[in-house]
Amino acid sequence: MMFADRMNNLASAASFATLARAKAMEASGRRIVHLEVGQPDMPTPAHVVDACAKALRDGHTRYTPAAGWMPLRETIAEHVGERLGMDVRPSEVVVTPGGKPIIFYTVMAVIGPGDEAIIPDPSFPVYASVVRFAGGVVRPLPLREENGFGLDLTALSEALSPRTRLLVLCSPSNPTGGVWSRDELRAVADVLRDYPNVTVLSDEIYGRILFGETHHSIAAEPGMRSRTVVLDGFSKTYAMTGWRLGWGVMPESFVEGFTRQQINVTSCANAAAQVAGRAALCGPQDSVDAMVATFRTRRDHLVDGLNRLPGIRCTLPAGAFYAFPNITATGRSSQDLAETLLDKAGVALLPGTGFGPGGDGFLRLSYAASMEDLD
Ligand code: PLP
Repeated sequence: MMFADRMNNLASAASFATLARAKAMEASGRRIVHLEVGQPDMPTPAHVVDACAKALRDGHTRYTPAAGWMPLRETIAEHVGERLGMDVRPSEVVVTPGGKPIIFYTVMAVIGPGDEAIIPDPSFPVYASVVRFAGGVVRPLPLREENGFGLDLTALSEALSPRTRLLVLCSPSNPTGGVWSRDELRAVADVLRDYPNVTVLSDEIYGRILFGETHHSIAAEPGMRSRTVVLDGFSKTYAMTGWRLGWGVMPESFVEGFTRQQINVTSCANAAAQVAGRAALCGPQDSVDAMVATFRTRRDHLVDGLNRLPGIRCTLPAGAFYAFPNITATGRSSQDLAETLLDKAGVALLPGTGFGPGGDGFLRLSYAASMEDLD
């Protein structure tokens, strides 16, 4: 088969490649400690699983409307509205198979050949990959360890141009675990006032995995609602990565374009999973609280242990479930150290460079793993 040129612009993700390699080593009998993949190690709450089984028996086995099953859209609108302190209508919600399609649909909707997208560096690699696939140009927004991987407003102003069509934000961040404050988000909103053609993709998939901080969304800032797509979903909050269920909240004028893309790609999200998703949002939230408490204990233990290793320093992440230690003083590159750890010690983790050039000198460890494995 002869692939089109655009296929050269679509990247793979380091996490899936490392997982495949680690699994192959496991198949040959090696014990591997998995700190590479970003998914909670807890089971999906039982009442959610039960709701799905019942939904299948009740006949939720057919296509739903492309933008989502209306009772779930209503529940998401209510839930997001309450959490972010804004008025959200069900007609502003699109339900997708995982949160990832919202990245794809947003980029495809606003990025044409030569258009520019400002993307934090380091960040989740899918943003840049999809922008390039769409023929767009990536303008990195450097995140620096010395200010807690927070926002550099000067760098943002320098990256903005008349060709900018998209700004991606991700807080709490994968891979840094950094959280952006309300003041920082407000400052971004102020800068964007002079750039009316820029849409914001605000990836808030880790918004409920926070250790003391409060989650803020740029969508709640004055003037931002009409130009922001908020990505969220069930994967991380309810330990449902394999279910593939997420959502976007966006201005109503975006919904038709997103729905049309969904019709062309997947038709809709899984029907029974959507019923279960509603049960997750409406039911008891104690599993979420317990998960966050567990992550907090592990975070403290892991970061403390990392900081005691020679040549390694690690800032305390405020959210998500990743540690992002600086390893430059070991004298080894991220890639080299990650490979050595896998080959010699059977520890699978990711080089920071898997998240952009700004990740050079760092490793990403997911602490969605047992204390024994973290030790
Ligand atoms: N956004 C970020 C920052 C992520 O880390 C991930 C998953 O790792 C996603 C989006 C996608 O999540 P989902 O499994 O819901 O597609």
